[in-house]
Amino acid sequence: MLSEVTVPQKGLSDFAPIVGDDVVRELKSLAGKLAGSRVLHINSTSYGGGVAEILYTLVPLMRDVGLDAHWKVISGEPEFFTVTKAFHNALQGMPLSLDEKARETYLRICRLNAEHFSGEWDFVVIHDSQPAGMIRYLSKGGARWVWRCHIDLTTANDTYWQFLDPIVEQFDAAIFTLPQFVPRDLRLGLVKTMPPCIDPMTVKNDAVSRDEAVRIVEGFGLDSKRPILLQVSRFDPWKDPLGVVDAYRIVKKKRPEVQLVLLGSMASDDPEGWDYFERTARHVGEDRDVHLLHNVKGCGNLEVNAFQVLAEVVIQKSTREGFGLVVAEALWKGKPVVAGKAGGIPLQVLDGRTGFLVEGVAPCAERILYLLEHPKEKEEMGRAGRKHVLENFLCTRNLKDYLEIFTQLREQTAAVRNR
Ligand code: UDP
Repeated sequence: MLSEVTVPQKGLSDFAPIVGDDVVRELKSLAGKLAGSRVLHINSTSYGGGVAEILYTLVPLMRDVGLDAHWKVISGEPEFFTVTKAFHNALQGMPLSLDEKARETYLRICRLNAEHFSGEWDFVVIHDSQPAGMIRYLSKGGARWVWRCHIDLTTANDTYWQFLDPIVEQFDAAIFTLPQFVPRDLRLGLVKTMPPCIDPMTVKNDAVSRDEAVRIVEGFGLDSKRPILLQVSRFDPWKDPLGVVDAYRIVKKKRPEVQLVLLGSMASDDPEGWDYFERTARHVGEDRDVHLLHNVKGCGNLEVNAFQVLAEVVIQKSTREGFGLVVAEALWKGKPVVAGKAGGIPLQVLDGRTGFLVEGVAPCAERILYLLEHPKEKEEMGRAGRKHVLENFLCTRNLKDYLEIFTQLREQTAAVRNR
């Protein structure tokens, strides 16, 4: 229950050559006022998916600027994660029902994790719905509690939201990726919106040479001289891997040399992963130019990087998406992305400038073909995409947003005390 995640060390100053000295100076000054603050992040997995990706950088950077930051993950029986995946799906709009047994499982595991909660904190940040229920069983003490919602709630299933809403309203603040994700009936003192971000200095995002990328990609049986279409995503219905395969088939008729890679990690809090992987494999059938890869087959961060670097076109055909870190990762490597017009994707894919926004299989195939046939334009879009990420979606901006929220919460507390 509730175990601490070990994170690497990171130095904010190391980011100065990328983001500039002024940004680093500003962050240090902002953090100075929060020095020594005890911050606890809690989520449901230390591996797989965007939240873990963000925390691996955010927690060390918070430490580097003087906060006493920690990250813990909850645990639970497989049934709990089946229930929380239903939460995830329903909150993104699936018409699912929520029976008494599922409610009981959710709250029971949240209570068990809450029983293992320890330490004194100034700020507790709970990520997504899985651990949110813990707040029901804890006294907040002197801590300010923040709920960070990473998913797209625009069409949230009302039964699930009505269950979660009173829990979320126990928090002091909530953070959403986009204004349109904030539920209209949410009553909370502080509601913020901010998109997530990527770390440009990780193995996944740091520059990798073309030679090394070729070696890695060929190691998985691909021909590096033929164009590669790539989607990097968990095997999840919202990421629409079946639609990607269908779009590839249309492209393949005109450009028989293309290969498709669907690369997905199996997150420990996502019990649907293997089922959906098998479903995708059945949909692919015998085509030897389609490669289904995942972390269990040795595709880790460096491999994701190599595929993104070598891909001719990156696809992210999501139909719902909180933000889609993979989009920022690909843009950072100078690859325009053909992506579903969903959730936080349009923040990153500026249609016609850093990629193309598409709805449906045929438009997706059409835009892939367009990029394959217009290499100059593709390069220009790639450059614009990298600049867009540099200016908006790097981890230094995320750190700044959190420092500002903590500062605001601290000021609110002080104001209440002085009343
Ligand atoms: N990811 C990975 N290996 C994979 C698939 C995904 O490392 O095979 C990473 C990906 O690079 C990104 C994160 O998992 O950093 C997925 O985040 P995103 O926001 O795109 O989607 P989520 O899974 O959170 O819905």
